[in-house]
Amino acid sequence: MLKSTSNLLRPLGLTRPTVVIDEPRARANIRRMAAKARTSNVVFRPHFKTHQCAEIGQWFADEGISEITVSSLEMAQYFAGHGWTDITLAFLLNPVALPQIRDLARDLEARGGRLGVTIDSAAAARTLAACDSFPARVWIKIDTGYGRTGVGWNEPEELAAVVHGLGPHHLPAGLLTHTGNTYAARAPQRVIGLHEDAVARLHHARADLTAAGAGPDLLLSLGDTPSCSLVSRFRGIDEIRPGNFVFNDLMQWEIGSCESSDLAAAVACPVVGLYPQRRQIVIHGGAVHLSKESLLRDDGVRVFGLLGTGSPGKPLATGAILRQAPVTSLSQEHGIVTLAADNYESMTAGLEIGDVVLVWPIHSCLTCDLHQEFLNLDGRRIER
Ligand code: PLP
Repeated sequence: MLKSTSNLLRPLGLTRPTVVIDEPRARANIRRMAAKARTSNVVFRPHFKTHQCAEIGQWFADEGISEITVSSLEMAQYFAGHGWTDITLAFLLNPVALPQIRDLARDLEARGGRLGVTIDSAAAARTLAACDSFPARVWIKIDTGYGRTGVGWNEPEELAAVVHGLGPHHLPAGLLTHTGNTYAARAPQRVIGLHEDAVARLHHARADLTAAGAGPDLLLSLGDTPSCSLVSRFRGIDEIRPGNFVFNDLMQWEIGSCESSDLAAAVACPVVGLYPQRRQIVIHGGAVHLSKESLLRDDGVRVFGLLGTGSPGKPLATGAILRQAPVTSLSQEHGIVTLAADNYESMTAGLEIGDVVLVWPIHSCLTCDLHQEFLNLDGRRIER
């Protein structure tokens, strides 16, 4: 079974662990999310940290998307250099990088666009206020339950202090949250419940600001793939910012926010060792290729990826994800795949070192970040 997938992968000519992208699937994922945003009448500002790739950015542009989210100044500069002019930097403002952020904001404004920046403290607001002619759209980050960053949704004094700190020259554009707590959910209804809580909490925070004299026009922006994939129609928000949905991964599949046929990025890894006595395959595909992200199986086994099969002409599309073939251990360059006693022989029949297996990653954003280029199913390189 693994041999036939290797036969499909080997013509791609790869010699090292390589991310393979199923472009039709990724484009379908983009199209579906864009259509949902349109029918819900919300702005679709996808997070580009998942692919960080100008060519894949173009797949979004092909669906009419012109507003994007990034998580670092470098990413913002990269996409600005590839023609994107409406960019939200959805990572807390780093005062040390303020001169570069201001240069970028001015550059985007000169091209008819806008840089969005994100703050969650009165100190950051004052830093911005002290910075003259800084044409940025300011988002105030709200913690709606994830507990990472953001002013607490039920902390009206802190929220008012942020707005006050901005002074008269920087009116906040809106309130922004990342509902990353949906990643702990393992049932679609739970994800939707967390999403609805987050929307209600954003409304609560905006009402507090309105009572304090600012707020009725503040936009509400929210984004995480589990909820954006599972909510059928967005209500009570103005903007969505999911990113991971473009490729999805085993984490989304586990949560129930995608089908196996929505996964669009896998890592093709050469087989370097076969160990029938311990029912293991060793691949060139370690933590520096897959990331150390893992899922804990019910039986206590930690899984760093699952092997998959291809189908003729398409190594990724319509192939199965093999729960019975988990990557159970990673070191820097090595991955160890452990098969059950009753299926080692049938799965590895004909498999030799030098063959290539397909590994579905746990978290595609982290995995793709580790690679300088991708391959599409025709074997064409997609540079980043
Ligand atoms: N917005 C912010 C601020 C984020 O931190 C993230 C992801 O970390 C996203 C949007 C996109 O969420 P996801 O990766 O679930 O698509």
